[in-house]
Amino acid sequence: MNVILLGAPGVGKGTQAQLLVMRDGFVQLSTGDILRNEVANGTDLGNKAKVYMDKGELVPDDLIINMVASKLLPEKSYLFDGFPRTLAQAKGFDELLREKRMQIDHVISLNLHYDEIVRRLSARRIAPKSGRVYNLITNPPKVEGKCDVSGEDLILRSDDLPEAIEVRLNEYENKTAPLIQYYQNTIGVKIVDASGDIEEVYQRIKNILS
Ligand code: AMP
Repeated sequence: MNVILLGAPGVGKGTQAQLLVMRDGFVQLSTGDILRNEVANGTDLGNKAKVYMDKGELVPDDLIINMVASKLLPEKSYLFDGFPRTLAQAKGFDELLREKRMQIDHVISLNLHYDEIVRRLSARRIAPKSGRVYNLITNPPKVEGKCDVSGEDLILRSDDLPEAIEVRLNEYENKTAPLIQYYQNTIGVKIVDASGDIEEVYQRIKNILS
């Protein structure tokens, strides 16, 4: 089963994806995580992407599509987290899925009030190596400032600073939100209320998947 998780930055796509990976056997394909890894390794792609990411802007579509194409394995069950993000990506993705004889079974859009999104993003901390995501308010680590799994120091993402947050939310409204209509016309979109605690949101998603 392949699932696309749509929703603005900060609604909890990554957090829910982590749970679905641990409990339900999915593989998370987060273009944001892949890009951050490329940046950390100083690759050619990483250097190109960093310029956009630091400002909170979207990375060009051709770079993203090629990156996803190089990762997809038809036998896996994917959660697409943060991809596709534009209509061009969605169309390129449709083609890629046809080539690989894969299909999307569910498109889930996580919805949350703007103020709550900003609050969550400001409190978000990540473990750069393990990729785990924490929230100082709703999902704190067991030991302050340290990843539960790897023990590494948690950091604030540079694009979780207020200026970049605003740009990212605008990018979402202008370029990504139209995908809801795009998928509404084909696969259909299930809207999930992303407020409340992590387990509640997880159950809402599980109800759709089972
Ligand atoms: P995320 O971790 O999903 O919030 O992504 C962090 C940043 O990586 C975004 O603000 C973009 O700069 C870039 N990015 C991630 N996924 C995509 C994508 N599908 N298309 C374009 N840019 C992306």
